[in-house]
Amino acid sequence: MSITKERELAPPGVSPVTGKADPLAPIGLRSRYEPNKRRFDKLGPLEKIYLFWIVGASCDGCTIALTGATNPGVEDLMAGNVPGLPKVEVIHTVVSVESGPEWVHNLFMADRGELDAPFVIVWEGSVMDETISGDGYWMGLGEDPETGRQITSLEWLTRLAPKAAATFAIGTCAAWGGIPAADGNVTGAMGVMDYLGKDYRSAFGLPVINVPGCSPIGDNFVETAAAVLLFLQGLAPLPEFDELGRPAWLFDETVHRHCPRAGYYEEGVFAEEYGDKECLVELGCWGPVVQCNIAERGIVNGMGGCMQMGGICIGCTMPGFPDKFSPFYATSPGHLLSSTTSRITGSFIRRLRRLTVADKNTSTRWDEDVPSGWARFRGAPRGAMKVAHRFYHAWQRRGQSYN
Ligand code: SF4
Ligand code: SF4
Repeated sequence: MSITKERELAPPGVSPVTGKADPLAPIGLRSRYEPNKRRFDKLGPLEKIYLFWIVGASCDGCTIALTGATNPGVEDLMAGNVPGLPKVEVIHTVVSVESGPEWVHNLFMADRGELDAPFVIVWEGSVMDETISGDGYWMGLGEDPETGRQITSLEWLTRLAPKAAATFAIGTCAAWGGIPAADGNVTGAMGVMDYLGKDYRSAFGLPVINVPGCSPIGDNFVETAAAVLLFLQGLAPLPEFDELGRPAWLFDETVHRHCPRAGYYEEGVFAEEYGDKECLVELGCWGPVVQCNIAERGIVNGMGGCMQMGGICIGCTMPGFPDKFSPFYATSPGHLLSSTTSRITGSFIRRLRRLTVADKNTSTRWDEDVPSGWARFRGAPRGAMKVAHRFYHAWQRRGQSYN
């Protein structure tokens, strides 16, 4: 029997040669025939879920950022190694085995409701307005096999988003429009939320979930996705999102509050040039007004991050980015008031703290003399310093009795 004939007779997604899952068939077909070896890890009712990663006006930075995720790693989600979470079948133009029409076939299956498990959409990049693309198109993704008509990525978003269990916008371009939507934008670029509208709800009743950042922190995305999957599993409540659809526990604080340089800001000490260790606000840092968690989380596995590496915050997670933070590397209008105030109060506080540090660096035994070869020219505190330390001790122990 010819291979062609055998292929016709073989069940869809099954290799006519091996009788096992055909590695080049659309994953929506072949995964039906893959035995679930880790069944014992499954706590919830879903054994798997499909994830369609669709790209608009993007630099692929979000895809790269995702590979840096560690808690959990993408590979663990794909392998079904995370207890309680379904195995995630990723359908991504870069990592999928199949390509071309075989890849696009997965989208048709999802649209026709032929997949054997629910699916979610992750959209990377801005959504460009195809109504102003003229005779061409901005973002093409496959053809209709019967008519040869070009299908755009936007058409897939329109068709699939209402059927998806959840729609994620990863990165600032997908969430708010980002760089492609900056002043001078001729493509009508916008975020997924802008395009789908405020009445949009997924098949499971969720508005668009936004994980911004340019590029975003990979762990921010997988943590959010994992939390939503637990909700879809019925194992956890819906995690808390803010009014813009951001995971609230990741974006409710300003980056400034957790910045390793925040102590310098508070004492009114500022960097004069890149490479200095102090607060960068006078070089143009917007950290005090930007909601971002990179100061705590780092960029990959707890390492790196903007201010940690000497860079200023340019507000890349915010809906106003980039226009409302331009020009970059110039001081913000608000810095004059806040940093001048810090400078005035900080100069006073710094002196008081130096006084206290000197006291705390002296044991009570050394109040008369410090027996250190390193400090042989420094005697015990005298004069005004001695009076200040005595006053400090008295104040510290007021109301206490040791009798
Ligand atoms: S470098 Fe930026 S975020 Fe850090 S303390 Fe200074 S102003 Fe705040
Ligand atoms: S610190 Fe600022 S520039 Fe850096 S990732 Fe956060 S929002 Fe973006």
